Amino acid sequence: MADTVELPSRLAILPFKNKVLLPGAIIRIRCTSPTSVKLVEQELWQREEKGMIGILPVRDTAAASETPTVSDSVDQTSKVHGGSSDSNTKVQNDVHWHNRGVAARALHLSRGVEKPSGRVTYIVVLEGLCRFNVQELSTRGTYHTAKISSLEMTKTEMEQVEHDPDFIMLSRQFKATAMELISVLEQKQSTGGRTKVLLETVPVHKLADIFVASFEISFEEQLSMLDSVDAKVRLSKATELVDRHLQSIRVAEKITQKVEGQLSKSQKEFLLRQQMKAIKEELGDNDDEEDDLAALERKMQSAGMPQNTWKLAIREFRRLKKMQPQQPGYSSSRAYLELLSDLPWQKASKEHELYLRAAQERLDNDHYGLVKVKQRIIEYLAVRKLKPDARGPVLCFVGPPGVGKTSLASSIAAALDRKFVRISLGGVKDEADIRGHRRTYIGSMPGRLIDGLKKVAVCNPVMLLDEIDKTGSDVRGDPASALLEVLDPEQNKTFNDHYLNVPFDLSKVIFVATANRAQPIPPPLLDRMEVIELPGYTPEEKLKIAMRHLIPRVLDQHGLSSEFLQIPKAMVQLVIQRYTREAGVRSLERNLAALARAAAVRVAEQEQVVPLSKGVEGLSTPLLENRLVDSAEVEMEVIPMGVNNRDISNTFRITSPLVVDETMVEKVLGPPKFDGRETAERVVTPGICVGLVWTTFGGEVQFVEASTMVGKGELHLTGQLGDVIKESAQIALTWVRARAADLKLTSAEGINLLEGRDIHIHFPAGAIPKDGPSAGVTLVTALVSLFSKRKVRSDTAMTGEMTLRGLVLPVGGIKDKILAAHRYGIKRVILPEKNLKDLVEVPPSVLANLEILLAKRMEDVLEQAFDSGCPWRQNSKL
Ligand code: ADP
Repeated sequence: MADTVELPSRLAILPFKNKVLLPGAIIRIRCTSPTSVKLVEQELWQREEKGMIGILPVRDTAAASETPTVSDSVDQTSKVHGGSSDSNTKVQNDVHWHNRGVAARALHLSRGVEKPSGRVTYIVVLEGLCRFNVQELSTRGTYHTAKISSLEMTKTEMEQVEHDPDFIMLSRQFKATAMELISVLEQKQSTGGRTKVLLETVPVHKLADIFVASFEISFEEQLSMLDSVDAKVRLSKATELVDRHLQSIRVAEKITQKVEGQLSKSQKEFLLRQQMKAIKEELGDNDDEEDDLAALERKMQSAGMPQNTWKLAIREFRRLKKMQPQQPGYSSSRAYLELLSDLPWQKASKEHELYLRAAQERLDNDHYGLVKVKQRIIEYLAVRKLKPDARGPVLCFVGPPGVGKTSLASSIAAALDRKFVRISLGGVKDEADIRGHRRTYIGSMPGRLIDGLKKVAVCNPVMLLDEIDKTGSDVRGDPASALLEVLDPEQNKTFNDHYLNVPFDLSKVIFVATANRAQPIPPPLLDRMEVIELPGYTPEEKLKIAMRHLIPRVLDQHGLSSEFLQIPKAMVQLVIQRYTREAGVRSLERNLAALARAAAVRVAEQEQVVPLSKGVEGLSTPLLENRLVDSAEVEMEVIPMGVNNRDISNTFRITSPLVVDETMVEKVLGPPKFDGRETAERVVTPGICVGLVWTTFGGEVQFVEASTMVGKGELHLTGQLGDVIKESAQIALTWVRARAADLKLTSAEGINLLEGRDIHIHFPAGAIPKDGPSAGVTLVTALVSLFSKRKVRSDTAMTGEMTLRGLVLPVGGIKDKILAAHRYGIKRVILPEKNLKDLVEVPPSVLANLEILLAKRMEDVLEQAFDSGCPWRQNSKL
């Protein structure tokens, strides 16, 4: 603090309504009225050195509060300002200007963000310097200025007064009182140290102002303090005020002590919150919260909610506004409102005219084959085109993993120019996953559908209900019943999510579902859907898919192109045969990606090791050619010239692409996992037989192993078997035992085949649950092989249900099963005769490689299963 302050003769005047700034005090004010903004802008903001302004207290008369006033005080922003000279005079009448003020210097200035209306605000931190007398008030533009004279004591006056015994006594008294106040305050907070230092360093007449300014006193008292120009008067007034403050603190303390004990925890919390709010206000921190809420309100207004929802939302919003952010329920209420305003109540992707040919092209471009499926999709789209609100069935793609169900659905979205959202239903057992939890639960959330809609932000996306067959039901409700409502065009106009608690219209959403199998889907749900089956692919189809779709995509994903890496057909075939055994193409894609990754590393490495001179040969820019003829120094300059990376990588381009060969495949993917000899290797002893089953992964080859040992004639079954398959095993054993003599398994009729021994039948891959009747014929064959000690042909696989009397019944999934047999390199397949019709679905290329044998009775199966036919047949009475 400077000892004496040089004041200019004229100062711009900022009126301070019903308040006083005392010398030594610091205030922070927000200037919002045009007058004060203009003043700050011209007198402080645009000046290079720190500007000075005068703060003049004004008394607001009753009349002034009703009429426009020039002096909307710095702290009050609501009043309108009338800038004309007419209103000035009027205002002069309404507002009483004090004739003494304090010159102030800006310590800090900040300019607020410009409002859309072009208004700006300023925040100014001012320090009071010294008193002045107003000699004449006039205007400069829209604000006031005053001719002034300083009321600061000169040096000689100061020296004189310091020797005045009255002054010495007064100052001693003041300091003692001040000291007392400091020590009282010190007990409450730890700011005392600094204040004490002030007490020793600052001249006492200034201290008087500083102390008084630091606590709240009435406007009248502030004015009289300002008017105490004489140092002695000021000191005695200050002593009195400090003493009074001290007393009031003591009284307050006593009361607090008394009351504190009675305050409940929540009251305390409330008090603290109020204090925190006050502190935040002081710091200007709570603007954020307010801005946020204002933004939320705007968002809510533009969300286009239906009338009823809006009413509910605005009620909730009012509740939220009254809450403290720390209050329980605030964040959940806020999250709810955010969701309401994020949801696409009306926002929709624009509907374009649908061109079926374009849609067909899109499907063809994205997917190889699948002719029937694509045809069905086009039909579906055609109906939509003719009757956009048609309540057609929901398409449900059923097939093993990796056959393109998801990508077909996303192609539909692309063809319709709609957004695409995938809702995974795999493993959903809780109805709340679909419908959300009620908001009364802690951590409640909306269901997956509403959540998905929030993410896509349009109300008419293509929504994929993925793995709809994998939902289960348990005590927490049945997700299927919720899905039923979703897929029912009658009901989904008012879909009720428990969290949302207001109906949401799902009728514009196009639903598509996928499932691995149709059978586990609850019938009412299945009834609403049209099942489109996507069976697995043949190796030839896989090869084409890989060459046309997977390889280009994988290369692209790895930043490569065919210039860098080529995967020849033969190698893709190798990967298909030796490294994958799946109905779809997912692990094929993964393996190709592994090759691409390895190639990417090589290409990246190569970029670094290729000698510069070699790589730049191909450059054709004349400038470069000239400079590149010889020495290495010139090459150093070349690199910065091709500034971007692309140029540099072209510079180092490897001249010939990397071609994947068998060595590379083995190096990257490891030794072959499957070699087509597996069945031969596994079917080595009697009792083992190859069956064909149908699983969620499509058709599969299933080995059946039977063994016998000393025991009491019991049948043991292992391999995670379901009831149906266990029964099949019983039937098989019964049939074999009944025919034991005919089949020459025992020497004479009536001898118990199980005499003194147990049978154990195992289905390997014991971790995978198995069920179904189609293992019947395989079980019989395994048992006959076991008892006759003759090996079953290892190139033969079979499927078929068997009755107790030995009839072979047809089974499902023939195409998938035959494809699986083909993948395993099996040459002969025994099928129930009645399944002959299903062979039309099997691609001819696969059939050409297989011998299909049809069986009507169990004996026909046995006839084909053993090497030299069924030798017992001629002798038997079968
Ligand atoms: P699913 O949903 O049936 O499990 P995806 O749709 O995820 O299978 O397909 C796996 C991958 O195989 C995707 O990258 C997909 O594009 C590709 N794919 C599957 N079938 C075909 C096909 N017929 N043509 C082109 N790519 C295909």
